[in-house]
Amino acid sequence: MSQEKSIMTDVSIVVPVYNEKDSLPELMKGISSTFDRLGKSYEVVFVDDGSSDGSYDVVKGLRETYGDGKIKSIRFSRNCGKSAALSAGIEYAGGAAIITMDADLQDDPAAIPEMLAKLEEGWDVVSGWKKVRHDPFGKTFPSKIWNAMTSIAAGLKLHDFNCGFKAYRSGAAKSLEIYGDRHRYLPALAHWDGCRVTEIVVPHHARKFGKSKYGAWRMFNGAMDMITLLFLKRYMKSPMHFFGILGMLLIVAGAGVLGYFGVMWAITGVMRIRPLTLLAIGSMVMGVQIISIGLIGEMITNTMQARRQYSVRERL
Ligand code: UDP
Ligand code: MG
Repeated sequence: MSQEKSIMTDVSIVVPVYNEKDSLPELMKGISSTFDRLGKSYEVVFVDDGSSDGSYDVVKGLRETYGDGKIKSIRFSRNCGKSAALSAGIEYAGGAAIITMDADLQDDPAAIPEMLAKLEEGWDVVSGWKKVRHDPFGKTFPSKIWNAMTSIAAGLKLHDFNCGFKAYRSGAAKSLEIYGDRHRYLPALAHWDGCRVTEIVVPHHARKFGKSKYGAWRMFNGAMDMITLLFLKRYMKSPMHFFGILGMLLIVAGAGVLGYFGVMWAITGVMRIRPLTLLAIGSMVMGVQIISIGLIGEMITNTMQARRQYSVRERL
């Protein structure tokens, strides 16, 4: 890849930070000692997602301690969410490999060497699997069901899609479009994009400082995102294939029923308005509307043709 030729740093570690000031110094220490042992060059990209607890001052302090070559930072002007933070951090990262990890010390930098080794084996994405989790049952149980469902939908068997701890080949990370709450499905997105995705078991620690930023609502939001994602994956390029068929079915069903009543009317000379007649008319109206939605979808897709529609693995 042309852009990778000028890369100087071996590894970028992207860390989304939302009110995690107490964890940052220890996290940085862990990363730095891991890389000292590993003998690879690294940079940490802290993305402060609108923290109000002074996290950014801590990041600036760390920049002074470790030097700006080691630490890059981005500060959002408000809380934009983890996906936005990851997206900005990955865009800014200059490493040949990109690692993402949470700021809360739940992810252990000691797992980084194994992740990098997997990338060297030829995988594009190495996803962490928190096999032994130190989170409340109310979080781990729904998560199990969730991962099983996502595996089926994504066509990729992983135990832990949403783990924040992952390693990517730079090109693979940069080609992901991460917005909304898509950080929960990154392995699925990468897989659909043709990346080779695997997982390794990573240690997981209980939160030491602060508290989790996500409540029970995440399950609901996640389910909505999954529907959107599946729809986009399948019908992004041709919305009419979905809306057109649905609309036609409704119209044909409605027309069939009305036709039947029409024939009966002609034969018996008695016109009957029955509930089914009304339903048939409703069905036809709805069918026309759904087809119109499909056409609008086609118009949107058409204006988006300029967007990249392929994913390159190598360019020499
Ligand atoms: N985070 C963020 N923006 C947000 C919410 C969370 O950058 O709006 C960061 C947070 O600081 C942490 C990571 O995302 O580094 C994971 O958040 P958390 O630990 O609260 O999630 P959990 O581990 O409970 O899934
Ligand atoms: Mg956490």
